[in-house]
Amino acid sequence: MGMKISVLYLGHMAFPKFRLVETPDEQEMVKSPAVAILIQHPTLGNLLYDTGNSPEHLTAYTREMLHDYPVVDCISIKDALAAKGLTPHDIDRIIISHLHFDHAGGLKDFVGTKAIRHVLVSEADLKEAYFKVMTGHGGAYIRSLFDVEGVGFETINETTDLAPDLTLFIQAAHTPGVIGMILRTEHSGTIITTSDTLYTADSYQKELPPGGTINATTDEFFENLRRIQAMEKEYNATLLFGHDYDQIIQWSEKGWID
Ligand SMILES: [Zn+2]
Repeated sequence: MGMKISVLYLGHMAFPKFRLVETPDEQEMVKSPAVAILIQHPTLGNLLYDTGNSPEHLTAYTREMLHDYPVVDCISIKDALAAKGLTPHDIDRIIISHLHFDHAGGLKDFVGTKAIRHVLVSEADLKEAYFKVMTGHGGAYIRSLFDVEGVGFETINETTDLAPDLTLFIQAAHTPGVIGMILRTEHSGTIITTSDTLYTADSYQKELPPGGTINATTDEFFENLRRIQAMEKEYNATLLFGHDYDQIIQWSEKGWID
């Protein structure tokens, strides 16, 4: 028996498309979903990759973030797990792709659970998160969301096999260390999750870097893009992007993927 994965749609934000991918049209809007991936693994137990936005976004998020990335609807990770018959106590381990608000926002729901003591992040992203919040330039890092009661971070700084069919890798784009996953399923082939280094299928296929100001240059975007293109080929993989509304809705409607 292999692992089963389920893509959890956690509501969406809506904002001008140029913040996600380069576009000349400053008016065009885009829906940007929040997403988590639930993995039921035969040896690792219940794993959760990301936790979506905070249900308390209106009070917890900075004015700047609420202005730039308004949350239109928020399905809490707790509610999304409940829809699968689970509670936060059923999760053995949490992996956070990077500690931005729309990925770490649900960590609070795990306070008091075993999972909060084992939150796996990249060392580079954890350092960036604390450096930024402690120097007054948090941006998309919001301390109250990830520095929660009882949290214990476990860090990786290179490609790491959690199991023969589940590998984590680190991408130095979007933030200094975004965790991607390689999931080798029994019946659905290999799936690679990029998180926010590649927001959408459009961005990947047309090689469109993010707009806005997330990185100082587009070099890291293109360097990472080439790497993902090579991995896609090497593993004959299907890619799951970070904020692609159509894809995430579609995949969330598949139910369990095994
Ligand atoms: Zn994001």
